[in-house]
Amino acid sequence: MGFMEKVKKMLTQPIGGTGKAQPQKQAAAPVPTVPIATAIVPGQAKTSVSIEEVMNSVADGIVALDRSGTIRLINVAAARLAGFANSADAVGLNYASVLQLVDVAGAPLEERHNPLIKALTNNETMTTRDFSLVSRENQKRTPVELTTSYDKLDDAIIVTYRDISQELKEDGEQMEFISTASHEMRTPIASIEGYLGLALNEKSATIDARAREYLVKAHEASQHLGKLFKDLLDATQASDQRLKASLEPVEMTELVRNVVSGFSPMVAQKNLVLLFNSIPLSQATADHQLTQKLFARVDPGFVREIVNNLMENAIKYTPAGRIEVTVQGSQNEVVVSVRDSGVGISADDLPHIFQKFYRSDNSDTRTINGTGLGLYIARARTEAMDGQLSADSTFGRGSIFFLRLPRMTDEEFDKERGLADNQLEMPSAEERAATVPAVAPAGQTVVQGAPALPAQPAATPAPVQQQVQVAEQPVINQGG
Ligand code: ADP
Repeated sequence: MGFMEKVKKMLTQPIGGTGKAQPQKQAAAPVPTVPIATAIVPGQAKTSVSIEEVMNSVADGIVALDRSGTIRLINVAAARLAGFANSADAVGLNYASVLQLVDVAGAPLEERHNPLIKALTNNETMTTRDFSLVSRENQKRTPVELTTSYDKLDDAIIVTYRDISQELKEDGEQMEFISTASHEMRTPIASIEGYLGLALNEKSATIDARAREYLVKAHEASQHLGKLFKDLLDATQASDQRLKASLEPVEMTELVRNVVSGFSPMVAQKNLVLLFNSIPLSQATADHQLTQKLFARVDPGFVREIVNNLMENAIKYTPAGRIEVTVQGSQNEVVVSVRDSGVGISADDLPHIFQKFYRSDNSDTRTINGTGLGLYIARARTEAMDGQLSADSTFGRGSIFFLRLPRMTDEEFDKERGLADNQLEMPSAEERAATVPAVAPAGQTVVQGAPALPAQPAATPAPVQQQVQVAEQPVINQGG
């Protein structure tokens, strides 16, 4: 009989503790000692090891719960972190009185966020580092990496966890170092970029064609380096939750259209087709009568950066074909989707692409530059706005990314905008509804009253690749 089978056998047997009896306990039979391995070493006596000994020698906490949430098995490491000196004392108790989870700030969890409840109700399998375990003995909180899995055969939930406080401390120190280093390095890079810009500017320098060619390459490389350090800085802020969104009411269709239109030159250069809300972007102008107005409370700078990242990736990973961007509304959400017909992402890579530094490594992507930080930062920014960023893909066929943000009604938007800027003269939702014909193109819903709204501030910067231009008078740190 194999290890897992032995564990399962134990799970199906009534298990109880050897310590003092607990009033709520359901079972009190002694823990059976099941020999799981019999090793015969030549010249030595035969030894057998019990499943209990093996479980207790593992540094990670292991707990098995039955369907009702009763602890059927718990090893020493799991019990110790939960504040039980004797693991047997926890057997037979309900999970809630042993595994008390709180969020990173120490607040108790709502039921819908509790991974143990999710596992018990939906057999949900997950790994998370978002919670701490509270010791019953001294109320000490230990940050844990916790995994839930479902054992179908025994209809049991297996919970494993380990203390990650040391890892988090080291991570924090590492991030602090990266943050300081990338911050410091941005100044000399800006200076190099400035000087290269001056050298390439015909008004400030005379250079021959060959020197220009070299300097253009150096300029591109310095821009790339600048972007890399900016990503590193953003990633360190995302890691220690320093990303703070400044939320304000924004009209999303126009904001996204504005960002996407900055990519027209790159799209044209690669001969890709770019559609916005099902029509070619060039026709989807700001004053398009049928543009749907969708309001959300977001950080417009964050939305620009996120859409920039999704667009950069869509273009980067699409050798030929099309990119389609849509902005749609459901009752509670504004959903921005960016679909491409590019190389796609394999099922193995898909669950990992939002992780820090993760890049899929295959013949299609190996030659494409990147840091693996873009999606990690984009997701952190999305979550700072209470939104969700997800992806779906078919390898070799293309990918689609969804950015979901909490939607505001017209009335909420009017009210907040009015409060934020009482100088702004804006017709009410009803007035706007009265002036606009509700005509929708096939497959598109039009929110009434769109055109009478004053234009949103449309100070969308060009995508990163185009942002840095040769400055005529760059500010250069002469101090060296
Ligand atoms: P990178 O700088 O590597 O592009 P990202 O964090 O933006 O970093 O993306 C992580 C990985 O996800 C990429 O390396 C790539 O493998 C994959 N990926 C992201 N977007 C796409 C896409 N539109 N099509 C195919 N693969 C993608």
